[in-house]
Amino acid sequence: MARRSYRKPRVLAQPKLETLRRRKTRSAEVLQRLRRQYPDAGTALDWSDPWQLLVSTILSAQCTDTRVNQVTPGLFRRFPTPRSIAESRPGQIEAIIRPTGFFNNKAKSLRGAARAVLERHDGQVPDTMKELLRLPGVARKTANCVLGAAFGKNEGIVVDTHVGRLALRLGLTLSLDPVRTERDLMELFPRSEWTFVAHALILHGRDTCRARKPRCETCLLADVCPRIGVALDAESG
Ligand code: SF4
Repeated sequence: MARRSYRKPRVLAQPKLETLRRRKTRSAEVLQRLRRQYPDAGTALDWSDPWQLLVSTILSAQCTDTRVNQVTPGLFRRFPTPRSIAESRPGQIEAIIRPTGFFNNKAKSLRGAARAVLERHDGQVPDTMKELLRLPGVARKTANCVLGAAFGKNEGIVVDTHVGRLALRLGLTLSLDPVRTERDLMELFPRSEWTFVAHALILHGRDTCRARKPRCETCLLADVCPRIGVALDAESG
């Protein structure tokens, strides 16, 4: 059978969200359980300063964190600073980051971001959403990740493929648009928890609420989850 896309709007044709008040109550319960299960939830990327985190996050697009972590030690050894990346010769960065996929575009983003950081921020990664979004290759997801993990700032919620999928299944949003999903999640969770919520949902998505075969029978959120779209996902998997 042809595989049905998770993104087809008919997934959202039937369900309705409960009132905001009820959703907030349920979100508080979800948060409490995630806190118990993943008390130390954080990024799985290896980094030691904001620049390294920015580079790793750019490389993590369409790639696993594990793969990124295999590539970055070699990259940072050879090109440890924004200046060294900005001044790298064509092909040098590409050869190292090739295993992360889309390496030509990623190398372009890294060089562009390195130049912008040097020209506009004296070689330092900026710590505001506005300035991060002005860097080449940086969209809200990357900016949220850097702000939360490197600067301890809860400016938004990282919505990657795991967070988007779980937010929908848990009935915390009915949107498939990451920007809308982020807005819905920000309305439900206290600001102080935004960074944690994203990391915990990502872990839960990897552990239990997998894309194709979610383990609902053993899930710690089973009794507070409406499982929106799960039957369709299972059918298509
Ligand atoms: S009950 Fe199922 S769909 Fe809901 S969060 Fe758990 S694994 Fe995911």
